[in-house]
Amino acid sequence: MKLTFLGTGTSTGVPSIGCECETCSSTDPRDKRLRVSIIIEHRGQTVLVDTSADFRQQALRFGLKWLDAVLITHCHADHIFGLDDIRPLNFRHGALGVYANDRAWSDIRRIFNYIFKPTYFGGGLPQVLAHTVVNGAQFCLGRDLIVTPLEVIHGRLPVMAYRFNDFAYATDLSEIPPATMDGLQNLDVLVIDCLRFKEHPTHLWLEKSLDYVAQLRPRRAYFTHIAHDVKHERDSPRLPKGVEWAYDGLQLSDE
Ligand SMILES: [Zn+2]
Ligand SMILES: [Zn+2]
Ligand SMILES: [Zn+2]
Repeated sequence: MKLTFLGTGTSTGVPSIGCECETCSSTDPRDKRLRVSIIIEHRGQTVLVDTSADFRQQALRFGLKWLDAVLITHCHADHIFGLDDIRPLNFRHGALGVYANDRAWSDIRRIFNYIFKPTYFGGGLPQVLAHTVVNGAQFCLGRDLIVTPLEVIHGRLPVMAYRFNDFAYATDLSEIPPATMDGLQNLDVLVIDCLRFKEHPTHLWLEKSLDYVAQLRPRRAYFTHIAHDVKHERDSPRLPKGVEWAYDGLQLSDE
């Protein structure tokens, strides 16, 4: 299995528009963060998690030619606003399976109302095959990519984290319920929200992210959804062994 970070930035992206702080003016490519999204590749299956606001740019940078499925964590703008840009894939390969929970589907149908209106004319519409995921209900993509949707809490909003065999991706959360803690045991890779150093009402911050890593004890952990408070090189020594700040373009493999 291979995981590629397409984006690791918080909702504004980094640099943040108009900001002249040390991170936003950094020339280190690891301090340039598009909105969060990953690609999982496993034995011929290519799966995208979230059509971020930067999806088009990310797909071009990655050289994306094909997707087997799109998984949605939740419908905040930074995670979903690139959905219209799946159209070139539809033009070439037809409709694309999109997996989201009930709540996300009602948001998608409201935000992208035109997609579901057969009367809409001109330009071509995204073609979406809707699949509803349920907390804890595993499904299989291809022959052996087992996906487990696991609910986490983002402020007060239930959001989906996803486990792929022994990799797990949990962004945008402030709390992990006990059943999900059980579902995140024995991981090779855990990718988890870590917004910044200071506390935040809807995201994990350094102390809490490290606390979850210590409880879950994955073999490796990577932090994502990172704000401009974090400068990659300067702040890497603040992390213990086995924990790293993710950055755009980073690839992890189990081989
Ligand atoms: Zn977000
Ligand atoms: Zn800044
Ligand atoms: Zn969010």
